[in-house]
This record gives sequence, C-alpha cells and structure tokens, in this order.
Amino acid sequence: MHVAIIGNGITGMTAALRLRELQPDWEISMISGESKFPYSRPALMYVFMGHMRYQDTKPFDDDVWDDQRIELVRDWVTGIDVTGKQLNLHRSGSFGFDKLLIATGSKSNKFGWPGQDLEGVQGLYDLMDLEQLYANVERTKNAMIVGGGLIGIELAEMLHSAGVHVTFLVRESSYWNNILPAQESAIINRLIRGAGIDLLLETELREIQDDGTGRVGGVVTKDGRALDCQLVGLTAGVSPNTALAEASGIPCGRGVLVDWRLQAQVPNVFAAGDCAEIVKPGEERNLIQQVWYTGKMQGRVAAENLAGGGVEYDPGIWYNSAKFLDLEYHTYGMVFPSAAAENSVYWEHASGMHCLRLVHDDERRLVAMDSMGLRMRHEVFEPWIAQRLALREVIDRLAEARFDPEFSAQLEPEIASALRDQLEQPV
Ligand SMILES: Cc1cc2nc3c(=O)[nH]c(=O)nc-3n(C[C@H](O)[C@H](O)[C@H](O)COP(=O)(O)OP(=O)(O)OC[C@H]3O[C@@H](n4cnc5c(N)ncnc54)[C@H](O)[C@@H]3O)c2cc1C
Repeated sequence: MHVAIIGNGITGMTAALRLRELQPDWEISMISGESKFPYSRPALMYVFMGHMRYQDTKPFDDDVWDDQRIELVRDWVTGIDVTGKQLNLHRSGSFGFDKLLIATGSKSNKFGWPGQDLEGVQGLYDLMDLEQLYANVERTKNAMIVGGGLIGIELAEMLHSAGVHVTFLVRESSYWNNILPAQESAIINRLIRGAGIDLLLETELREIQDDGTGRVGGVVTKDGRALDCQLVGLTAGVSPNTALAEASGIPCGRGVLVDWRLQAQVPNVFAAGDCAEIVKPGEERNLIQQVWYTGKMQGRVAAENLAGGGVEYDPGIWYNSAKFLDLEYHTYGMVFPSAAAENSVYWEHASGMHCLRLVHDDERRLVAMDSMGLRMRHEVFEPWIAQRLALREVIDRLAEARFDPEFSAQLEPEIASALRDQLEQPV
C-alpha cells in the first residue's frame, strides 16, 4: 500500500508520522512544493526578525524522515487522477498512489484590487513570501498593510522591526472587531498606535498605484486619500487552498468537502487541516479550522482513517493563542464580538493594556474566556469550560489558572472584586 500526502505542513507531517506508527510496512510519500523538510509556519516572523534561524523552525531533525522511511518529494502537484490513482508532478511527472491525503493548507485572500499584482505587493503565508519580503523591504520607507487580523499585525511588527514606517488600512471601525469584543479590539488599537504604527480605521483600499516601473508607488483609499508607499502587504484573511482539488474534480465548497472521518467525496482520498471543510449535516455552516493545533489533530485523525480505522474528528473546545506586538492573547471557548454586550464579566487594568473576560450562559456558568496581557492556563480553563463551572467558583479559583505569578498575583484581588461586582448585578 502506498499513501501519498500532498503538503508537508503540520497536518501532512503529523499524518505521515502517525501513519508510520500504525502501518510500519506501508510506503509513505510526502510531496510539497514549498520546502523539502517540514518547518513551523507560525515562526516565519521570528526568522525575519532574526530571533530564530530557519533551521530552528523545523520541528524534527532532517534524519527523522529517513529513519521513519517517509519519502520527501519537493515538487508541485499539478493534477490528481482519482480513478487512475496518479498524481501529476510539475518536475517529475506521474506519481502513483493507493490512498491520498490532501493537506494543501490555505492561501492569502486577494479581492481583485486594481494593482494587486504589481511588484512590491505581497501576502505573508509561506517561504516564498518571506523571500519576497527580504527583497521588498530593501527599497521600502513606507509600507501599507491592508486588512487586520493576526497575520496583518505580524507583518506590521516585522516591517516595524526593520525600521519601515507602517500604516494599516482597516475597513472596520476598530481592529479585528469582527472577531473580538469591543474592549479587546480597543486594546489592540491602543497597542498598534502606541508602537508608532499608523492605524487608519474605516478606511478601504480603492487601488494600488504603479510608480511607472511596474512597482507599487502608493495607494488610493476609497475616500480619495493618496498615500505614498513602496510595499503593500495584503493580509485580508486566508481561504482554504482548494485549487488543485477543484481542478481535479474533487468536490469542494469553501474547502475540500470531507465527512467527520476526513474522507473526501471520492474514494481513497482524504483531506485535513486548513484546506478541509467538514460537512455538518443538517447545520447551516460547515467546519473550517485554520490554526496549528487543529491541523495537528486533523492530521492524526486522517492517519487513523488512511490506515483503515473509523475514527471521527472531535474538535473539542476551541482555543487560540497569539502575540500581538509583545501582548499575549489567549482565548478558550468561543468568545464572540457580542460578548461585550451580553453574558460576560470583564476586567480591564487601568493601563488599558491588560484584560480578562469570562463568558457565561444564562445560569452563569463558564462557557469561554479571553485574556490580553495576562496569561491564564489552558489546561485549567479547558476542564472548567467543559464542566460549565459556576462563574462564582471560577472567580474564587482564578489563582489556579495564573501563569505569570508575579504580575497576576498582585492583580488578583482587583480582578476578582471587579468580576464579582458585575456578577452581583441582575441579568
Ligand atoms: C504568518 C502566519 C502565522 C501564523 N501563526 C499562527 C499561530 O501563531 N498560531 C496558530 O495556531 N496558527 C498560526 N497560523 C496558521 C497555521 O500556520 C496554519 O493553520 C497551519 O500551518 C496549517 O497547516 P496545514 O498543514 O493545514 O497547511 P500548510 O501549513 O499551509 O501546509 C500546506 C503545504 O502544502 C503545500 N502545497 C499546497 N499546494 C500544493 C501543491 N499543489 N503541490 C505541492 N505542495 C502543495 C504548501 O506549499 C504548504 O507547504 C499562522 C499562519 C501564518 C501564515
């Protein structure tokens, strides 16, 4: 039996290693166009800023793949013949398989802006983007970043660290307020501006202008402002990378359509990680998850099922962690923007740069939390959310969840008292 895996990101690499444990004698090949050896995508920014070397972003020593008898092929797959069980590879031609895992990740969104293909306009997703950034930054004094979110702020931090003046163009009235409640979003606004980065809210891009040589020379906003810049970062979100699957006739919606076993709608083909869309029968929205840990979990499930198991994917309780310009952000459970107005208690430090929000149900039991500038332990909060612990008890036991004792311990009485006061108020 020969299993081919397209993509060597966290999903592909996890699947390959788990499959090796389950099927010691099968042939396993992992094909990826971006790099021969897997590396950690979230670490791209640290490579650029000189905090890490590229080789330190590889989760495994290069020898591991030989030791595990996993063939690594550096090539782009240009077609999948599902019935003939053949891949077409850009450089090396046909490549046979018995079972296939598609783990092609995401792609940066582009919205058809005039000038979006000029030199100096780029996204931040992969090693090719990093190479482009090294080249582009050399000739950049002012950069424009279009779109908010996590990748936007990372790119801003990278450019800022290289001495480039950065301006954000953000369509919303506050940074990332389509995801964050109003107060948390306001913290990010303060953080960005405090770092010396210009943040233009409620500002949309109309076009990117050519400097006369095919390179970006500036942008014009929808309200007619012309802004000078030599680099434009497009960070208006990512979408599942379905180009190959779609072109090969494998059914796709927003992502490659799969069931809870991550099996695609054609025989012997699975899809997992950022590129997959799990169909939830009877529900309005399918499940697309585009973070590191879900890629890892889905990779394991795909391996179990490629090996012949019948394992269903259990997404568990959602969580995410990120760092915005040195400010840590954690969220466990789903905190919606509407949490600012309903069903939550919220504490914010007088500096306006640290906060904690506990979201509760109608019986005042914990369903989710988020924190900024304050680390709270995931392994403590997750069971509290799973058990729907009473909010009163959560507040009494906050010390159990603290991660950074010096800072949080000082603040705990203030945090607990502020949250308790809000809890006393009638719903
Ligand atoms: C800049 C950045 C920072 C991030 N930071 C975080 C973070 O802090 N925390 C977090 O949880 N998540 C973060 N993410 C998201 C996280 O990195 C992704 O969710 C995760 O990498 C997805 O893994 P994947 O294996 O599904 O896909 P990918 O990592 O995208 O890997 C897919 C691979 O498939 C290859 N491929 C695609 N098509 C083909 C083809 N036709 N032929 C051959 N190869 C192909 C691609 O080149 C790529 O190498 C970040 C993402 C980015 C871009």
